[in-house]
Amino acid sequence: MLSPDRLLPPDPGVRRIARDLYEHVRELPIVSPHGHVDPVSLADDVPIGDIALELVTRDHYLLRMLYSQGVPLEALGVRPLDGEGPTVDGRDVWRALGEHCGLFRATPSRLWLDHTLSEVLGIDVRLGRDTADDVYDAACARLGEAGFRPRALYERFGVEFLATTDGALDPLEAHARMRASGWDGRVVPTFRPDDVVDPDGPRFRENLARLAGMTGEDTETWSGYLAALRRRRGAFIDAGATASDHGHPTAGTADLSGVECASLFARVAAGRGEPGDAEQFRRQMLTEMAAMSLDDGLVLQLHCGSWRRHNPEVTRRFGADMGSDIPTPMDYVGALKPLLDRFGNEPALLVVVYTLDETTYSRELAPLAGHYPVVRLGAPWWFHDSPEGIRRFRQQVTETAGFANTVGFNDDARSLLTIPARHDTARRVDAGFLAGLVAEHRLDEAEAQDVAVDLSYRLARDAFRVGT
Ligand SMILES: [Zn+2]
Repeated sequence: MLSPDRLLPPDPGVRRIARDLYEHVRELPIVSPHGHVDPVSLADDVPIGDIALELVTRDHYLLRMLYSQGVPLEALGVRPLDGEGPTVDGRDVWRALGEHCGLFRATPSRLWLDHTLSEVLGIDVRLGRDTADDVYDAACARLGEAGFRPRALYERFGVEFLATTDGALDPLEAHARMRASGWDGRVVPTFRPDDVVDPDGPRFRENLARLAGMTGEDTETWSGYLAALRRRRGAFIDAGATASDHGHPTAGTADLSGVECASLFARVAAGRGEPGDAEQFRRQMLTEMAAMSLDDGLVLQLHCGSWRRHNPEVTRRFGADMGSDIPTPMDYVGALKPLLDRFGNEPALLVVVYTLDETTYSRELAPLAGHYPVVRLGAPWWFHDSPEGIRRFRQQVTETAGFANTVGFNDDARSLLTIPARHDTARRVDAGFLAGLVAEHRLDEAEAQDVAVDLSYRLARDAFRVGT
């Protein structure tokens, strides 16, 4: 079903070079420093079960496209928050996908789905209206086999390191269970404190109280609050974390005095924030997180620029992560300056910046990463972790930032099943990009091979301190 030359350049001469480069990296281990696999699945190693609930209901890429063409979210297995309406079973969800799978032509979702069904599950029938039942039965049967349990998949995929994404208040029980089980897979949490640093969040004040309860610190004071965050970071590090991650609406940072911080915190913690306070607090907290990273070594990742829950009707009925998040224009040069003024030259700090605004690649991000020792460019993200998105990234940042100021690929996967598809896409597209440089005599083939290994493996391993 899948061409061995998929995603490689069409020119026969360049394709030959790309094939060799791809073969050189195809089997390298997978380093997955950012994603959303549920650690419970690997802690308990229970069979994945239903292919539709795994690949459709939990994947906002699929939900958004299907919703845009009139498919109700309920038909895709999403339960309304009020619990009204019938429960839809997996087979019906899969039939809805089969019926509408033409919507995904030329999108990365189609690539990932084809790869997952064919290469991972060994099903060589293309999904469509007429084949949906057969594919569903074959996939669910396959997922019931011992060799398709989460830990077996992790091992078969050659995953060397997998980071999940976990809120600051997460007790990390699944990670503890995994370690206690003696399994030698390396699955670690990532410290994602948005719930306790964003005063606009729905339960910010309640979360501060929970943070106090978990840490024994007084989170009604600025110093107690910072101490509580340090403790949670320590708990994450004890569980193997090597990075934090911050999902802010902007890349804004601030560097206020201690007195200003204390009074700003007092206002937002009491729910008496003035206009602009919430944004200013988030800005200050990125700088505080960088300061803590300098002490404890966590790599700071910044995923910013998404207008979350843009569609209020969908949010009201179904909650967050339903595919209604939309990118906004971004500023990094001005926004990151307060943080960089303070920490931009620190050899021990790494700030990995991701963007949804591709217009910033060559204008802002590549020059920042190509100068400041602390700044690295994160992999193409979300709307751009696609063949064209990865190509545009390389084309727009390489001449200024080189390869070494990037951090390899990360899959951002919702499901373990789709991890190989995403890394394979990146390895193929990067092989094509490098093959073009070889064909133009800008790199020789040995250099291109070396870079291909960096992009597929070494850069992520180094940036996210996998070897430490
Ligand atoms: Zn993510």
